[in-house]
Amino acid sequence: MDKATVFGTVDGGSNPSKGTSMARMTYLEKLRHTAAHLLAAAVLKLYPQAKIAIGPPIENGFYYDIDFGETKISEADLQKLEVEMRKIILSWKKIEGKKVSEKEARTLFADNPYKLELIDEIVHRKEKITVYQSGDFIDLCRGGHVDQPCKEVKHFKLLKIAGAYWRGDKNNKMLTRIYGTAFASKKELEHYLWQIEEAKKRDHRKLGKDLGLFLIPEEIGTGLIIWTPKGATIRRIIEDFILKEQTKRGYLHAYTPHLGKKSLWQISGHWDLYREKMYSPMKIDDEEYLIKPMSCPMHMMIYRSKPRSYRDLPLRIAETATVYRYEQTGELTGILRVRHITQDDAHIFCREDQVVEEFLSVFNYLKYLLKIFKIDDYYSRLGLRSKHEKYLGSDDLWKKAEFEIVKALKKENVPYITSEGDAAFYGPKLDVIIKDSLGRKWQAGTIQIDFMLPERFNLEYIDRDNKKKRPVVIHRAPLGSLERFIGLLIEHYAGAFPVWLSPVQIAILPISERFTSLARATNAYLVSKKIRSVVIDDGGTLQKKIRQATLQKIPYMIIIGAKEAETIKNEVPEIISLRTREGKDFGQVKFYEFVDRLISQIESFL
Ligand SMILES: [Zn+2]
Ligand SMILES: [Zn+2]
Repeated sequence: MDKATVFGTVDGGSNPSKGTSMARMTYLEKLRHTAAHLLAAAVLKLYPQAKIAIGPPIENGFYYDIDFGETKISEADLQKLEVEMRKIILSWKKIEGKKVSEKEARTLFADNPYKLELIDEIVHRKEKITVYQSGDFIDLCRGGHVDQPCKEVKHFKLLKIAGAYWRGDKNNKMLTRIYGTAFASKKELEHYLWQIEEAKKRDHRKLGKDLGLFLIPEEIGTGLIIWTPKGATIRRIIEDFILKEQTKRGYLHAYTPHLGKKSLWQISGHWDLYREKMYSPMKIDDEEYLIKPMSCPMHMMIYRSKPRSYRDLPLRIAETATVYRYEQTGELTGILRVRHITQDDAHIFCREDQVVEEFLSVFNYLKYLLKIFKIDDYYSRLGLRSKHEKYLGSDDLWKKAEFEIVKALKKENVPYITSEGDAAFYGPKLDVIIKDSLGRKWQAGTIQIDFMLPERFNLEYIDRDNKKKRPVVIHRAPLGSLERFIGLLIEHYAGAFPVWLSPVQIAILPISERFTSLARATNAYLVSKKIRSVVIDDGGTLQKKIRQATLQKIPYMIIIGAKEAETIKNEVPEIISLRTREGKDFGQVKFYEFVDRLISQIESFL
């Protein structure tokens, strides 16, 4: 079981692709896996001493892990390899497989310790050994290739090099992983390469710096970020929005401390099951305390603070809370993965007969949020039980919860995949995977049903029949972590936030110094209307000011010069010139009308 998702952890992280069964490979996977063979063949041609390890297809391409021995290779060598691949492919009319005996296999790969290790495992699993050959290249492989490589493997590209431990184990040797991609058509390949370039431009670390949204100062420590005023504005607007939406949906809000006694985390089970993500205990007076990795136990205290009746349920306790988790240095990426995570967290305490309805209402809220942020491509991953593990809760309740979740997903027409063994041990779990404007996948929120914490914290309510019963807890954080979600939004919008979320909504550009005081008066008026506006009066030309506002991705620009100055009434111009960051020029518009329209546009979100 994935421990990181046991207790409602929602800081995401992409799922490493699990091995794809060869029989179920898609055409694209076969194409890419064939390209991986081709890469290995080219490597052996140019670096005969290299030992090739494994080369699977992955989400957007393929890789091959290779031990180059003493030879150092770099991305500059990829071009050479690609040229060699194009030469070799001409002779690969087909790719033929055959079964071989253990002895034959060991002879074939006698000088390759990685393949020998794989052979050991195949033998241990009592499976047949197969090898596949094209031209004079032969590889240990379970199959899954295209029929005519020379005709089909045409549109490929080697992309980058990274280090990878053999079998992903850091006690093993570090191998060189060469990544590449392949598509069925030139157009698709070119689109993907464009996407990679576009993704670089949208990198939230670059944009975060250019737009002045956050800092990650080394002086403070690894994985610890500061929201500077502009980034803090975005976060505050999202927090306010969440607070308002939750209130509308019957949530009550709480604040809880950032640390608590170690014994609390022993009761919750975190100390046993989640310790690797927690920071070391600190001593306060004579007791050990832990900084919180989650808010769940704190919310259990609220439930337990007084006797509860069936009439009190559901009780929905929400808190946008920062929690602290130890993420390994290598996993930290900008603000997508940090060591303090602000969750839009809540715990819903409900009766068993309310679980489905509450689950659905959380799911609909999540869908609503995604729509608000203009994320319309997403699917769900339903984590179900596997036959091999133990779970809490009655079989009936599990079946019912699974059935109702599936029904709900179908009713809402949300594509979903099921993933056996991905349930939490206390109930089925729904993760929402969203696709951004470049088609990249991100894990956003999760909804989890929990039968365990109520047990551990001895939560009860008096039911209609006067008997004591246990409530069920739903953990949910629709956006996951605000740090991660805002990082995602920066890339999704390429820094051009919609006007209601933009840290600066209007830039006022005086044509020359003569109009600076009028620009300031106009600014003061806008600020008094709660519009986030600035004056750019650095003495440069109008062209430069427009460029600066455009680079800062400020949605609207108001230009003020002689014509506008002629229309002053009550200290502000009645007519202004208006442009957008996209370069659209509205020419002269009525100032008050524009302001009214802008305010109602913004308020429709707030
Ligand atoms: Zn193969
Ligand atoms: Zn929780």
